[in-house]
Amino acid sequence: LVGRMREFGETIFAEMSALATRTGAINLGQGFPDISGPSDMLDIAVEAIRTGANQYPPGPGIGELREAVAAQKLDRYGLAYDPATEVFVTVGATEGIAASVLALAEPGDEVIVFEPYYDSYAAVIALAGAVRRPVTLRPVEGRFTFDPDELRAAVTPRTRLVLVNSPHNPCGTVFTRDELETIAAVCREHDLVAVTDEVYEYLTFDDAVHVPLAALDGMRERTVSVSSVGKSFSVTGWKTGWVTAPAPFVRAVQSVKQFLTFAVSAPYQRAAAYALRDEIPWVEELRKSLQGKRDRLVAGLEAAGFDVYRPQGTYFVQADIRPLGFTDGMELARALPDKAGVVAIPTQVFYDHADAGARFVRFAFCKKDEVIDAAVERLAGLR
Ligand code: PMP
Ligand code: GLN
Repeated sequence: LVGRMREFGETIFAEMSALATRTGAINLGQGFPDISGPSDMLDIAVEAIRTGANQYPPGPGIGELREAVAAQKLDRYGLAYDPATEVFVTVGATEGIAASVLALAEPGDEVIVFEPYYDSYAAVIALAGAVRRPVTLRPVEGRFTFDPDELRAAVTPRTRLVLVNSPHNPCGTVFTRDELETIAAVCREHDLVAVTDEVYEYLTFDDAVHVPLAALDGMRERTVSVSSVGKSFSVTGWKTGWVTAPAPFVRAVQSVKQFLTFAVSAPYQRAAAYALRDEIPWVEELRKSLQGKRDRLVAGLEAAGFDVYRPQGTYFVQADIRPLGFTDGMELARALPDKAGVVAIPTQVFYDHADAGARFVRFAFCKKDEVIDAAVERLAGLR
C-alpha cells in the first residue's frame, strides 16, 4: 500500500459492523436504515432491469436524472443549474466528493475540513497528495459549532478548498445561515472553492432548515455541491449521487470521475429520478419518523447516563461517555458488545486532534423503534 494511504487502515464502519456480526450485538454503529425506501421507487429499479436498462448509461448520467436533480435544486432552494452542463451523476456522494477533491486540489494544496469529518474526506485528500487542515467543531450550549477565528486562522496561501458537511455527520449540527455566511466570507475573501456534502439535506428536525452554501451571495460560482439518494430515500446500498456546480467545475470533476468509474448503475438512476420528482412526501414522513426516533434514543441514552447532544439533523447522536466513568471512546466501542450487546462508532477516528474527540461515541437511530428500545435497555446496564 502506498505511503500516503497507510495511516488509514480499515474503515471504522467495516470494523464495527464486523464486530456486530461476530458478537450478535445490536448495530447502532454504521448508519444504514433497517427499512427500504418507497416501494414504487423499488419497483422502478426492478422494472428498469427487466426492461433492459442494463448497459452503460451515458458517463454524466441519464438525462432524466440530471433533469430531476436540476428541478429539485430549483424547487427546493431556488438554485438554477443547467442539467446538460452543470449536473452529473456519481457513484454515491462518496465518489462525487472524491472526484471533486482529486480534480480541484493539487499536491501540496491545503483543504480545510471541519472535524470530526466523514472518514472518506481525509483519505481522498491524501490520495490527491493534498494536506488537510482541520477546524474543530466543539459543543457550545449543547450544539457543535466552530470558532470563526479558528476558521480564518486555518487559511494559508496554499488553501484551495473548504469541505463543508451540513447537516453534519456525526455531530448532527445543521449550520445556520450565520455560520454559512462566515464560511462563505472566508471563501470569497481568499478565493477558495467549497465542496459541500449535503447527503442529509432532507433529514432536519424541529425548526432547523438546511440552507445550501451555494445559495449564499457569491457562492454559487465557487461551490461544488454533492448529494445522493442513500439517506433521503433509505437506500444506502444504491450508491447513486450527483454533483451540481458551474460548468467549468463540472468538466473538471467529470474528467476525474470518468476514469474512476466512467458511469453509474443504470437501473438506479431511473429510480432515483423518479424518487426526486415524486417521493418527497415519503421523505417528509421519514423525516418526521426520524425526529421521533431521535427523541427516543436521546431519552434512552440520557437515562443510561450519557451526556447527549441532541442532533438537529442526520440520524446520529454524539454521546459523551465520561459521566459513565469512561474516557476513551475507541476502547469503549470495542468493549461495548461485551459490556452491553450494542455497537457504536468511536468518533475520535474522525478527528486529527484525537483528544478533542476521545470522549464521544456515535449512535445511529435510523432503526425500528423496538431496536432502539432494546439497545437502550441494554445500555442502561452500563452504570
Ligand atoms: N457523506 C456523509 C456525511 C455520509 O454520512 C455518508 C454516508 N453514507 C456519505 C457521504 C456517503 O454517501 P453515499 O453512500 O451516497 O456515497
Ligand atoms: N455514512 C454511514 C455512516 O456514517 C456509513 C458509511 C460507510 O459505511 N462508509 O455511518
